[in-house]
Amino acid sequence: MLNIIIFGPPGAGKGTQSERIIERYRLTHLSTGDILRNEIKNETKLGILAKSYMDKGALVPDAVVIDMLKNKIEENRFSKGFVFDGFPRTLAQAKSLDEMLNKAEIPISIVVSLDVKDDELINRLVKRGAESGRSDDNEEVIVQRLNVYKQQTMPLIDYYKNQGKLGSVHGVGSIDEIFKKICNVIDKDF
Ligand code: AMP
Repeated sequence: MLNIIIFGPPGAGKGTQSERIIERYRLTHLSTGDILRNEIKNETKLGILAKSYMDKGALVPDAVVIDMLKNKIEENRFSKGFVFDGFPRTLAQAKSLDEMLNKAEIPISIVVSLDVKDDELINRLVKRGAESGRSDDNEEVIVQRLNVYKQQTMPLIDYYKNQGKLGSVHGVGSIDEIFKKICNVIDKDF
C-alpha cells in the first residue's frame, strides 16, 4: 500500500499534481476540499455547516473533517493506496490519521511538500478565482487562508520531518517538471 500526503499552502498545485499521481500509481484521490464542495453542491447538512467556515477562509472543525475522511477511507478500503490532498491541516488531524492508518497497518508512506512563495500563491489563486468562480478565491479570503495555513498547518512540516517522512519539492515550473520531481521523491523511497 502506498499512502501519500500531498502537502502545501493553498494554490501550491496539490490538486493538479494529485491527479497525475493517482494516474501513475493507481491510487485513490481523497481531497477534503473537493468532498466538502460536493456536500455544498448537494446542499447536505454537512455542506451547509462547512460553507459557513469555507466562505471565511477558516478551517472546518477537526471532528467534522476527521469523521468525513474516516468514512471515505472505509468506502475505499480495497484501494491500492491513497493520495491525501488538503488533509491533514492541523496537528489533531495528523494524529488522528496516523492512529487510523497505523491501526489498519497501512501507515503514511511519504509526505510530499510543495514549496511556493506567497506572492506566487496569491497570483495563482486570484487567477483561479477569475476562471473558476470559486467563491473562496478572492483576495480577502485568500490572505486569510494563507494565514490559517501558516498558523495551523505549517507546524505539520516538523511533525512529518521528525517521522523521517518529509520530501520537499520546489513547486514552481511547468506541471510536467514538478510532477517529475514528485515522482523522484516517491520512487526514491518506494
Ligand atoms: P481546499 O480545496 O483544500 O483549498 O479547501 C478549501 C476549504 O475547505 C478550506 O479553506 C477549508 O475551509 C476547508 N477544508 C478543506 N480541507 C480541510 C481540512 N482538512 N480541515 C479543515 N478544513 C478543510
